[in-house]
This record gives sequence, structure tokens and C-alpha cells, in this order.
Amino acid sequence: MSLKTPINHDFNIKCPKCEHKLSYNLRLDDLEKVSSKEKPEDTETKYKFISYVVCKNPLCHYDIELKGYIFEYPADTINTIELASIK
Ligand SMILES: [Zn+2]
Repeated sequence: MSLKTPINHDFNIKCPKCEHKLSYNLRLDDLEKVSSKEKPEDTETKYKFISYVVCKNPLCHYDIELKGYIFEYPADTINTIELASIK
């Protein structure tokens, strides 16, 4: 089982360079399976992603690298998307 990609998701991201906080719609299409865990009802699968956005502040335009995790539980359903690092 695996999630259908791409996954579109809105994130509020603070640029690490200029500290502007803006909303970005990310298109995640390169998921790598990290682990899976048996739960009472189904298996929870964890994926990691890396994505890049360009800061929308016209004076900055910094390339922001985003890393995070997607948890699939139950099968074929996105339970949680979390950002692990922004730099
Ligand atoms: Zn910026």
C-alpha cells in the first residue's frame, strides 16, 4: 500500500533568512518510506519528504529547504503531515 501522489498541502512557513511568515502550498510527490508500525486497526506508515520553496518576500527570494514527515493511517489516508526542519 502507498499514498497517491502528488499530495498538495498548505504550510505556514517562516523564512529562516528574513523571518517573513507566509503560507505555501506544497506539492509533495517524492515520498520515501521510513518505517511502518502495526496498530490495532491497521498499519501506520511513515514517509519522509524534502521540498523546496522560494521565499515570497521580493527582497529576499531565499531558497527554503523543507523536510518533514507524512503519516499514513489507516491505509491510503493521510493522518498527519509534520515539518521537521526549515532551513
Ligand atoms: Zn525570506
